[in-house]
Amino acid sequence: MNSKECKRCGTCCRKGGPSFHFEDKGIIEDGHIPAKHLYTIRKGEPVRDNISEKIVYASADIIKIRGQGSTWTCYYYNEDEKKCGIYEYRPLECRILKCWDTRGIERVFGKNLLTRKEIMSSVEGLWELIVEHDQRCSYKEIRKLTDEHGKTKKENLSEKVAEIIEYDKIMRELIVKKGQLDSELLDFLFGRPLSVTMHLDSAEKL
Ligand code: SF4
Repeated sequence: MNSKECKRCGTCCRKGGPSFHFEDKGIIEDGHIPAKHLYTIRKGEPVRDNISEKIVYASADIIKIRGQGSTWTCYYYNEDEKKCGIYEYRPLECRILKCWDTRGIERVFGKNLLTRKEIMSSVEGLWELIVEHDQRCSYKEIRKLTDEHGKTKKENLSEKVAEIIEYDKIMRELIVKKGQLDSELLDFLFGRPLSVTMHLDSAEKL
């Protein structure tokens, strides 16, 4: 076998699913990858940079494929058969990535990323809810409060952060309880719960 071709070792699929770009919009809209298999890294969310291994903050939405259980392995990777379950419809990054030559992926990395707005803004009612949640659970605001708390040691600042985390939790519970949304859609629509993402050791990989 030519060394410059994919050996289907699965290493890239085990390192986490791809980030979605504008070019991938149709794959979601046509239902080849349903929203319940996705999640959103929201603007300002702490994420672990795969290259520097440092914690950075997302500059905008990043939509990704869920992992399998608690692992980074892409939801669609079939370990037994060593193959992609949606090969024909795999996203741009998966089609471009060549582990022996990363120039292609470097050209698109972090560019033209698809956001929830492109997919959800036409869904009346739901989009407004997403925007409201983003405002009330803003990572920028949380970081500001956390930084201030570190400097001033004022108790009420940490209480404010706790209130935001509680709002995020209750809103998710209520929306599912009222039967308005499938719980499997929450991580895509509202990002992962703050109670999870505020632990930096759980920061997602880019
Ligand atoms: S979509 Fe397919 S090719 Fe892409 S990471 Fe997942 S399993 Fe691998």
